[in-house]
Amino acid sequence: MAGTPAKKATRTAGGKSAAETAAPARPAGAKRVTGHPPKPESRTALVRRARRINRELAEVYPYAHPELDFENPFQLIVATVLSAQTTDLRVNQTTPALFARYPTPEDLAAADPEQVEEILRPCGFFRAKTRSVIGLSKALVEEHGGEVPGRLEDLVKLPGVGRKTAFVVLGNAFGRPGITVDTHFQRLVRRWRWTEETDPDKIEAAVGALFPKSDWTMLSHHVIWHGRRICHARKPACGACPIAPLCPAFGEGETDPEKAQKLLKYEKGGFPGQRLKPPQAYLDAGGIPAPPLGAA
Ligand code: SF4
Repeated sequence: MAGTPAKKATRTAGGKSAAETAAPARPAGAKRVTGHPPKPESRTALVRRARRINRELAEVYPYAHPELDFENPFQLIVATVLSAQTTDLRVNQTTPALFARYPTPEDLAAADPEQVEEILRPCGFFRAKTRSVIGLSKALVEEHGGEVPGRLEDLVKLPGVGRKTAFVVLGNAFGRPGITVDTHFQRLVRRWRWTEETDPDKIEAAVGALFPKSDWTMLSHHVIWHGRRICHARKPACGACPIAPLCPAFGEGETDPEKAQKLLKYEKGGFPGQRLKPPQAYLDAGGIPAPPLGAA
């Protein structure tokens, strides 16, 4: 990719300024601009292209990490359950008060639901979420000695925990490879024609087969980070996308570099991130912590 916009962008990407991460529209000589490929891509070519996209994204987001603040598996599983139907930012702004008051599964299992509801109100669906996290905590206490289990088969039996939540916990709290098929992941892998599947479990299997297992967790972060910052659902910033030369969907969004630049979010647009306590690598790259709840 030497000399392509992708390489230029990835060499300088570090979250310091949007301009540094931007790529102009598809370069001259690129094979196509929009529409389907002229002929079906071979399996080998697909695997190569998919892995190349992941490598490029690793350069664009070398500091990629889970965007929920957590200090232990219990905090991560609760935060992941709370993140349904809301942003990670809002969860991160809410959980400090929750975990200060109820630091362990035993504490939350014994909590007065009305008091938990008050704390969780900013997360939306706070009554249902209160029931979920108290029920989850009770199950952890009664069935797992107050510990979050580190096996998929145990995690998915916990109330309110599906495969997506289980893989987030396995990948990020236990270091066990997992693919997180959230809304961003589903959208991007279809844009990239990695799979035509629509069912999350089938997407997980199809994409998992393109990569070594050891790549799965970071792959999930790279894809989700790209979806949140550049390849948005309604208006992808194609003109500022470092992987444009590898993307069959280039042109689905804004291709004008200057206009695309203005669509970038979080550190790529020079804005705060979602975590109040992001990893040091993110701060070192110029990332800005999210403000606490109620801050201007
Ligand atoms: S659709 Fe546009 S923004 Fe998304 S990956 Fe492709 S080129 Fe980049």
